[in-house]
Amino acid sequence: MSESSNRQADVLVIGGGIHGLSTALYLAQAGVKVTVLEAEYCGRHASGVNAGGVRTLGRHVAEIPLALSSRDLWHELKHTLGDDGGFVPSGQLKLAESQADLEECRLRIEQLQALGFCHEVLVDQQQVFDTVPTVSRHVTGGIWVKDDGYAVPFKTVTAFRLAAQKRGVRIHENTPAQRIEQTGTRWRVSTPAGHFSAEHLVVTAGAWAGGLAAQIGEPVPVHPEGLMLMVTHRVAPFCVPVLGATSRALSFKQFSNGTVVIGGKLVGSLDFLARHGEVEMERLGSSARTVTDLFPHLRHLGVNRVWAGVEAFTADDLPVIGASRKASNLSYSFGFCGSGFQMGPGTGKRLAQLILGEHSDISLEPFAIDRFNRAASAPPGAFQSASTIAHP
Ligand SMILES: Cc1cc2nc3c(=O)[nH]c(=O)nc-3n(C[C@H](O)[C@H](O)[C@H](O)COP(=O)(O)OP(=O)(O)OC[C@H]3O[C@@H](n4cnc5c(N)ncnc54)[C@H](O)[C@@H]3O)c2cc1C
Repeated sequence: MSESSNRQADVLVIGGGIHGLSTALYLAQAGVKVTVLEAEYCGRHASGVNAGGVRTLGRHVAEIPLALSSRDLWHELKHTLGDDGGFVPSGQLKLAESQADLEECRLRIEQLQALGFCHEVLVDQQQVFDTVPTVSRHVTGGIWVKDDGYAVPFKTVTAFRLAAQKRGVRIHENTPAQRIEQTGTRWRVSTPAGHFSAEHLVVTAGAWAGGLAAQIGEPVPVHPEGLMLMVTHRVAPFCVPVLGATSRALSFKQFSNGTVVIGGKLVGSLDFLARHGEVEMERLGSSARTVTDLFPHLRHLGVNRVWAGVEAFTADDLPVIGASRKASNLSYSFGFCGSGFQMGPGTGKRLAQLILGEHSDISLEPFAIDRFNRAASAPPGAFQSASTIAHP
């Protein structure tokens, strides 16, 4: 194959995290020729270093339909990828620690039921104790989602990568996209390894996606943060579901090897130019205290490892997913605000449907890139819409 044909595709995807790779896979399943450009290596950033939570519980209502469709794909992952990514459908439980917390949980369930969602269920104190017998007795109840769970992030990303490559997706690592431009009907992307071109461009570059959108005059209020996690030494099994809390930051799970992963959108610091998150030990300490409040028997448990990953946050805590409103044949998926691992399969599938021109009941309107400046934008219809890639 000549070098020039190796650099041409139907779709070019910028970013080899879970969103880029799942979009690439679902496009390739439909016979589309896809190339992925990854600045470092696939799964190097948030997708490979996150807490592994597969959570629909507590989602912004605008995200729920997409998160539920993604959850169904998590349950089929073994069939789709030939590897389950370490997914364990353990259930997730958000704990209430006071009567006020419990009331907040009750109102949330009432709100969801009014909207027709019944995946979150209110549970009382005894149901919590039955599910997690070792939890502190001050807990008053909570919200339970039985089909949520957790997975192993790097294993999952690697499984998407291998499945995509098996379907013919070409992946170029250590190949950062520098300049993106549309000339005629094609997108041209320059990298230190030369130019790549395609009819359609997909930007799934995580915390770096905003810079690429800005290149084509479509700026987004997206900013990077360093999110922290810690992993303890091994301890005898004591907790099956993933736990969160109602009024304090917590995401807590025990893996089958006995280690406990503790996070919950704990913000550390960041050296964005060096593409590197930094741990702030003092802030991790307050999170450790939440855990020992809930499980006093863990107070002497040692911490084995701590780290921080780089994540993209938007001004309204919702991701950007969908077609560009400025240029044709350009799509985005980024800005998942600390909860995008769970969304990876569903968003990739939905974005592929959009690019293929397939119908879906799941609207991407809440995630439109122009929502931040709609008042100043032109009336609907003034924008070029993305054309679709025809099925072969
Ligand atoms: C510590 C931590 C814990 C988290 N816990 C959870 C959790 O429990 N559950 C959950 O659902 N979510 C969680 N998240 C969030 C989740 O990991 C992210 O939302 C999700 O992985 C984002 O995926 P992505 O593919 O959009 O971005 P990324 O994984 O960041 O991938 C983007 C890729 O694009 C590449 N790239 C950037 N610029 C360029 C360029 N110019 N050219 C080529 N490639 C480029 C990067 O190198 C990177 O590999 C957590 C995040 C962190 C950091």
